[in-house]
Amino acid sequence: MKICIDPGHGGWDPGAVSGVRREKDYTLRLGLRVAQIVTDQGHEAVLTRSADVSLGSTEALDLAARCKIASGCGAMLSIHLNSAVAVATGLEVLFETENNRSLAQAVLSEILKVAPAIDRKVKVQKLGALPNGGRAVLAEMGFINNPADVKMLEAHFEQYCQALVRGLFKGLGLEWKEEEDDMVRYEKIEDVPADWGRDTIQKLIDKDLLAVPDDGKIDISRDMLRVLVINDRMGLYN
Ligand SMILES: [Zn+2]
Repeated sequence: MKICIDPGHGGWDPGAVSGVRREKDYTLRLGLRVAQIVTDQGHEAVLTRSADVSLGSTEALDLAARCKIASGCGAMLSIHLNSAVAVATGLEVLFETENNRSLAQAVLSEILKVAPAIDRKVKVQKLGALPNGGRAVLAEMGFINNPADVKMLEAHFEQYCQALVRGLFKGLGLEWKEEEDDMVRYEKIEDVPADWGRDTIQKLIDKDLLAVPDDGKIDISRDMLRVLVINDRMGLYN
């Protein structure tokens, strides 16, 4: 299937901004990785943008251009970050037409599986960028003005991306090939999942059992990480 991946905002439109953090940068990073996973899974990913650009000189033109790209695809995933005046936290997936409720729920359920984030539920919302009646959802990947949400996003970046695609595939009835999982590599310690692997890696580094090169790139495969964590749980590194 041809799947449109839409990193929200870009160019003159930064999206939500909090200090030095801009929504458009996070959505692009997420979108590029999500598109790569879709491609690795054997489907065609069509990005609305792959650089820091807008698709039109006004918001309406920009949305129309995204909609046009998506209309040539079987489904669309828009990626955004939330912001709020008051303190808010969590993930939510928006959909416009009732036929997309289960797709939105599938995407949200998968991302909530990989991180202890707050479930803000799926919500109906008018989404100008989505083609009328087409399969389309918009994922809000946390609040940019909530440091805890941004930290969660950074710590679970790869898992979030994998889960977005897995949820999309589930909702669309496409097969998810688990092999992709085994090809995941963690370049830096920050990439290692904090909920199950990072403590082990930190312990190995602290005990000089794992050398960290000057560039900080440990480059460990998920398979290797699993082995190290099992060894750790068996007490081999105590
Ligand atoms: Zn946005």
